[in-house]
Amino acid sequence: MAPTDDTIFGRILRGEIPCDQVYADDLCLAFRDVAPQAPVHVLVIPREPIARLDEAAPEQAALLGHLLLVAARVARQEGLQGFRTVINSGAEAGQTVFHLHVHVIGGRPLAWPPG
Ligand code: AMP
Repeated sequence: MAPTDDTIFGRILRGEIPCDQVYADDLCLAFRDVAPQAPVHVLVIPREPIARLDEAAPEQAALLGHLLLVAARVARQEGLQGFRTVINSGAEAGQTVFHLHVHVIGGRPLAWPPG
């Protein structure tokens, strides 16, 4: 079945709802999380719809790598000395939007292990 993108992030990518964009290129978009968990909380999403990490295909390896490089770029752009990247995969892990996204979180001390 072809991937669909009836998610809120699909709507953001199509320009149907606004976002606070911090970075964009041909492959991805990065914007501020609407409910930030830290002073900096940005989401990096691929333009092509992948519902969750475990649905990514081997042909998408370069795209996944690109998302991580953009996450690091955004962290630099935001002036973060350290930051955390999180990909929740599946409802059990806390995923609520089923369009793959990398959380970039920083600007405060981050505890480990996460909840
Ligand atoms: P997850 O729980 O990993 O699926 O993360 C989804 C994230 O999307 C949450 O941190 C939400 O706060 C965030 N979110 C939901 N809707 C929007 C929106 N319209 N703009 C920005 N962030 C959003």
